[in-house]
Amino acid sequence: EVRTRFAPSPTGYLHIGGLRTALYAWLFARKNGGKFILRIEDTDRNRLVDEACEIIYRTLKDTGLTYDEGPDVGGDFGPYIQSQRQEIYRKYAEELVEKGAAYYCFCTKERLDGLREEAQKKGEVAKYDKHCLHLSKEEVQRRLAAGEEYVIRQNIGTEGETEYEDLVYGKITVPMSDLEDNILLKSDGWPTYNLANVIDDHLMGITHVIRGIEYLSSTPKYNLLYDALGWERPTYIHLPPVMKDKQHKLSKRNGDASYEDFIAKGYLKEAILNYIALLGWNPGGEREIYSLEELAEVFTLEGISKSSSIFDVEKLTWMNGEYIRALSPEEFEKRARPYLDEALGGSFDYKAVCALIQPRLEVLTQIPEKVGFLKEMPDYDLSLYTHKKMKTTPENSLPVLKKAREVLAAQEDFSNDALYETLQGIAGELEVKNGRVLWPVRVAISGVAVTPGGATELAALLGKQETLARMDKSIA
Ligand code: GLU
Repeated sequence: EVRTRFAPSPTGYLHIGGLRTALYAWLFARKNGGKFILRIEDTDRNRLVDEACEIIYRTLKDTGLTYDEGPDVGGDFGPYIQSQRQEIYRKYAEELVEKGAAYYCFCTKERLDGLREEAQKKGEVAKYDKHCLHLSKEEVQRRLAAGEEYVIRQNIGTEGETEYEDLVYGKITVPMSDLEDNILLKSDGWPTYNLANVIDDHLMGITHVIRGIEYLSSTPKYNLLYDALGWERPTYIHLPPVMKDKQHKLSKRNGDASYEDFIAKGYLKEAILNYIALLGWNPGGEREIYSLEELAEVFTLEGISKSSSIFDVEKLTWMNGEYIRALSPEEFEKRARPYLDEALGGSFDYKAVCALIQPRLEVLTQIPEKVGFLKEMPDYDLSLYTHKKMKTTPENSLPVLKKAREVLAAQEDFSNDALYETLQGIAGELEVKNGRVLWPVRVAISGVAVTPGGATELAALLGKQETLARMDKSIA
C-alpha cells in the first residue's frame, strides 16, 4: 500500500510551496488508493510558533487535503507529533551507536568553533573531524557516567560513494567524503531532523517520501541510517523549488505567500489548489483547469518537472476569475456574502447584485469597490458624461436626463426589461442612438465610470425612489 506524508514544521503559516508539497503527496496517495499522513516536525524547539499546528490542520481540512492519519485524527502509527516521540529517537540513536553507525561526541563548543575557524582560514567548509569517534569505550562510559554533556553523531564512512535513485532527479551520487558526521541527537536530548525523519518515515510505513528539493543532497545520509538499521529505504520524490522570481525562492521565513493571505485577498481555495498543482507538474496538453478530484485522477510522478517554476500571481488571478465565473449562482452568493455585507450592509437584492458582479470579478475582494456606489452615490466629475463612442457630453446629457427623469417618474414597472424599453423609447423619440440615453442615465445614478451592468440593470436594483432621487441630484 502506498503511504505518503506531509511533515511540516510548525514555524508559522503554511506557505504556498509547503501546500504544494502536501498537495502532491495527497494526490499521489489518492491516485494509488493509498494513505496520506500528517506528521508535525516540531523538534526544532527554537522555531516553534503557537497556533502553527492549528493553521496546518485548518488549511489541510479547508482545502480538502484530508489526512488519513495525523495528530488530531489518530491512526495506528502515532503519536504523529515528533515532540511526543522523544524516547523513540533516543532508543534508535543508542541502537545506532551499538551498531557503530553513530557515536557519542563530547566536543565542546570552543573546540568546534576552533575547527570552524581553522577551516575558514584555509578557505574550506568546516566539517567535524571525527575526534570523538576514536574515544575508547571505557572513556565514553566514564564520561557519560560523569554526566558530561554529549551529542550523538552519525558515523559516516570516508571511502567510496553512495547513491540512490530519485524519481524526479534521477541517480544521485555523492562521495562519502562530502558527507559530514552530523548530529543525530542533541545535547538537550532532542533529535535533529537527520534522525527523526528517518525513524518516523520507517515506523510510519512511509513508502514514498515527497518533499522539497532542499533535502535531495542530504538524503544519502538518511539512506545510510536506513541501511544501518536494516530498514528498507523509501522511494524519494524531491520537488523543484517554487520561486518568487528568477533568483529568489518563495520562502515562509521571508514572509512570502501564505495560503491564508491569498484567501484573505479574495482567492478561492479551488483556484489556489489548481494553480499550485501546475507549479512544477505538467498534466501534458493544453488543459489547465482541474478540480481536486480530477487532479487525483490524472496526477502522475512523471509529470513532475526538474526545473523550478515561478509563482505567477497574475496567472493565479486569471485562474481565480475563471473559477469565480464557474461557480453556481448560489455558491457564488454564499462566498460573496461577507463582502456584500461589508459594502452594502444587507440592503439590496443580493441575488440580483450577484448576477451583475459574478462575471466581472477576478478576486472576491473586488466586490466592495464594485458595488459600493449602490449604497451611496459618490460625488463625481461632470467629465464622466463625456463618452466618445456614445457621443455624449455633459451638455447634451442634461436635456436627455431631464426627459428621462420625467418619463421614469411616471413608470410603475421598474424591472430591467421594462426600463430598457422605456429608455429605448426615449432615444427613438429624440432620434438618437440608445447610448445617448443609456450612458447619461448610468452616470447620473451611479456616479462611477465603471459599473457592473448598465443603466437599466442598476436602476432596477436601486428601485424607483432611489433612482429618481439620484437623477434629481445629478440634474440639479
Ligand atoms: N519538516 C520539514 C520541513 O518543514 C519536512 C521535510 C520532509 O518532508 O521530510 O521542511
